Amino acid sequence: MGVRSRSGVSQAVRSVRLVLLGVTCPVCGAPGRAPCVSCAGRLRPAPSLVPPPGVDACLALLAYEGAGRELVARLKYRNHRAVVPGLAAAMASLVTGPDGADLDADLVTWMPTTPARRRQRGYDQAELLARAVARHLHRPCPRLLLRRPGPPQTGRPLAERHRGPQVLALRRVEGVAVLLVDDVVTSGSSARVSAQALRSAGARSVVVLAAARTPQPGAVLH
Ligand SMILES: [Zn+2]
Repeated sequence: MGVRSRSGVSQAVRSVRLVLLGVTCPVCGAPGRAPCVSCAGRLRPAPSLVPPPGVDACLALLAYEGAGRELVARLKYRNHRAVVPGLAAAMASLVTGPDGADLDADLVTWMPTTPARRRQRGYDQAELLARAVARHLHRPCPRLLLRRPGPPQTGRPLAERHRGPQVLALRRVEGVAVLLVDDVVTSGSSARVSAQALRSAGARSVVVLAAARTPQPGAVLH
């Protein structure tokens, strides 16, 4: 499984436009489709990604800017769950061919947010995406990673972000190919430390699948 061609990514973005259904546009708030036609037209595919060390491939659906950023931020910060089914369907299409033959994943898991954030929001947006992606791919979706308490990556100085959060594997995953779902890939440090934890626990491969990717590697978001 490799990073898809430009046409493959465009196809995935088209599928976002087709399958996102809801009562209001999560980007601009207009009633009707989610996102509305105007906002869907402003979604851009994620830039191609160089996988962080320990990650076999790093795939992302949307560029985390403009309408794409607003769409993912609505889920991340405002619990706009209407975007989950459409995002998950399009994310799943990034890792499967027409017949699903090129999917190398025994299971799906997610990059956990901090325990404090989860308590504060009442949900983990990466878990919501991972469970929906796993349903599309017909794979189990166990919780495999534990994130030690600490500040969230967003808003931290770049040098600290590059060190990444502290992440532990909860059990052995000997010889298992893992598809690791996250909402947004920024510096890649979270993906790197998660992949290290999974590999230390025996994982055969780790592929990261994100809803969005920041346009510039290492860009600091607020
Ligand atoms: Zn809109």
